[in-house]
Amino acid sequence: MPLHIDILTLFPRMLDGFLHESILGKALENGLLTAKAHDLRAWTTDKHRTSDDRPFGGGAGMVLKPEPVFAAIEQLQTPGCRRIYLTPDGVPFSEPLARELSQQSHLILLSGHYEGIDQRIRDRVIDQEISIGDYVLTNGTLPAAVVIDALARFIPGVLGEEKSLTHESFTGRLLDFPQYTRPAEFRGMSVPEVLLSGHHGDIEQWRQTQRSEKTRQVRPDLFEKHRHESHH
Ligand code: SAM
Repeated sequence: MPLHIDILTLFPRMLDGFLHESILGKALENGLLTAKAHDLRAWTTDKHRTSDDRPFGGGAGMVLKPEPVFAAIEQLQTPGCRRIYLTPDGVPFSEPLARELSQQSHLILLSGHYEGIDQRIRDRVIDQEISIGDYVLTNGTLPAAVVIDALARFIPGVLGEEKSLTHESFTGRLLDFPQYTRPAEFRGMSVPEVLLSGHHGDIEQWRQTQRSEKTRQVRPDLFEKHRHESHH
């Protein structure tokens, strides 16, 4: 059975384009994974379809109410599924986490908005909390899309060439090397000689050097980790 992903959000239409374009659109069309965006308001029961309310204890903004979220998750969950809340105070998202999620059979991704969600949701019906980075967005729908996009790349058949995965940034912790395509000469800028040489050994060496240099400059934290690991 392919991985199934349910996304719970107040803004399901934010995902319309995302789920139908490019590599992900093709993967869904081919049934390599399935995904459905649900409007949380479908689980509200009052006539105003109220999904949020003011925070107890005061303060600005609105908080997502527990009732619709509990009802939605209780209806959608399956044995062994992983229920994830996207939140800036979650564990940092990463390639290893994306790979691990790609191997699950069912994910429920919950997006909050405004001030976030009632803590009792997190205490009772959420298994894992994930942050996509140290910045705050207005709602969790884009973070859910980011997680889906990153994990989809690990599902066999989603990327045309399986080997393109192994050369990306972060495999082996070094960033990627620069890419060039035709024309070899453009506005006075030429492609590095070595890439035109046909010497696979030299090309490989050049690319490795570029990766190390780039990583050392831009991400000294990754570079140190890489050095540490290659010494063991
Ligand atoms: N009061 C919350 C806090 O400081 O942690 C911020 C809530 S944020 C304005 C609204 C929603 O956006 C969150 O419930 C979450 O779903 C989503 N969100 C915002 N930034 C995010 C991030 N970096 N990673 C994952 N989700 C994020």
